[in-house]
Amino acid sequence: MILGAHVSAAGGLHNAIGNGEELGCDVVQIFIKNPNRWISKGHTDDAIDGFKEAWKTSSIQTVVVHDIHLTNLASPKPDVLKKSRVQFREQIQLADRLGIPYIVTHLGAHLETGEAEGLEMLSHSFNQLFEDTNDTSVSVLLETTAGQGTNLGYRFEHLRQIIDTSKYPDRLGVCLDTCHVFAAGYELRSEEAYHQTFDQFDGIIGLDRLLTFHLNDAKSEYNSRIDRHEHIGEGNLGITPFQLLVNDSRFSHTPMIIETPKMEEMHAVNLAVLRELVETG
Ligand SMILES: [Zn+2]
Ligand SMILES: [Zn+2]
Repeated sequence: MILGAHVSAAGGLHNAIGNGEELGCDVVQIFIKNPNRWISKGHTDDAIDGFKEAWKTSSIQTVVVHDIHLTNLASPKPDVLKKSRVQFREQIQLADRLGIPYIVTHLGAHLETGEAEGLEMLSHSFNQLFEDTNDTSVSVLLETTAGQGTNLGYRFEHLRQIIDTSKYPDRLGVCLDTCHVFAAGYELRSEEAYHQTFDQFDGIIGLDRLLTFHLNDAKSEYNSRIDRHEHIGEGNLGITPFQLLVNDSRFSHTPMIIETPKMEEMHAVNLAVLRELVETG
């Protein structure tokens, strides 16, 4: 199992590695830009080298970037779309310099223009971004969403469409968030339902595209289309889906990242709960 958490990179990117090691993470997820700003301070060559050095000498196997919160690559508003594309391109280039293979992103929101139009815009955005960053080896992981408001990505079919319409399908994978799919109406709470949902995923997207998990319990209700994370085993998902996931041999090499609340106090607790679930022997 490759287990880890979203960790803070406050005070310098290299700190994320230390924070992850303290928690015994095999994988960490980080922001490489201020998630709430369009423009953030760049990283010096020294900072980039410092991060790479810290990572190389650590027990962290994999690092994943999470996109900033403002991005809307499906936006019908020209200014937002432009800003989204510019900063996303910068994140791809920065991730490449850091040696990070993946950026996880949500699919954006159509803002009442309709899902078909939103998905088409999103597809154009990715085609342009991948063309502009053809000299990098960074892939984008499309995250399954809860489908709050006009957010896209709450049906597996949306992700399939983006892959199908991409000129660069090799640079697209998927990140499945347990809280989001549950809130979007995919059941996971029994062994039977778990297998049904993953069969559906396999049929529509293909398990070979599933390259990362976000393991979050849900404060939100089933099919509520609301995105609220809860501590592992404490929410509406309960412990069963997590027990099944950490013991599913199909996913033994797939990074599993928690994004549960109160990371400072609670990440260690949530990771311990997950490690306890692993059946040995
Ligand atoms: Zn997530
Ligand atoms: Zn979420």
